[in-house]
Amino acid sequence: MTLLDDVLSYNRQFVADKDYEGFQTSKVPSMKAVVLTCMDTRLVELSSKALGFKNGDIKIVKNAGATITHPYGATMRSLLVGIYALGAEEIIIMGHKDCGMGNLDVESVLNTMKSRGVKEEVLHTLEHSGIDIHHFLEGFKDVRENVSNNIDLVYNHPLFDKSVPVHGLVIDPNTGELELIQNGYDKVTQ
Ligand SMILES: [Zn+2]
Repeated sequence: MTLLDDVLSYNRQFVADKDYEGFQTSKVPSMKAVVLTCMDTRLVELSSKALGFKNGDIKIVKNAGATITHPYGATMRSLLVGIYALGAEEIIIMGHKDCGMGNLDVESVLNTMKSRGVKEEVLHTLEHSGIDIHHFLEGFKDVRENVSNNIDLVYNHPLFDKSVPVHGLVIDPNTGELELIQNGYDKVTQ
């Protein structure tokens, strides 16, 4: 049995047993917030449960490092669509301690790519095409600073409504304890 076999098999039973009934809700978040956090395995459920959110309460966007890598990329688009089309009225950007994107060893990632068949000349071609591979892959040094930088990016985005509060948090992936980095209500302009 592969992972996919397990998933499909479990799913048939899940639907047959009507287990979905406990999850049914609308696409408008009842807590009117969109949360950007990390794809870390320890946060699969903890990122919602430690904050008191359940299915239907929030929009949640996850990526490696809870980071907006481009002002016109998919993550920023998700935040904007959450605000302008899906009923969110606040944003929470939540990094976490011990994040895999903190001090990510880019050289090691590149070496792994090469050992798995990515050719050196492909990397050179990309570099010559103006793609900075190191910059593309690199994470951050300090999670608090990363949360603050992402808040600034959102808040200064030309398409952002500055009356929307953007809060910054850092979560402990072991205990779920939150550290407040930015109270977004302090910064909004009406
Ligand atoms: Zn992480």
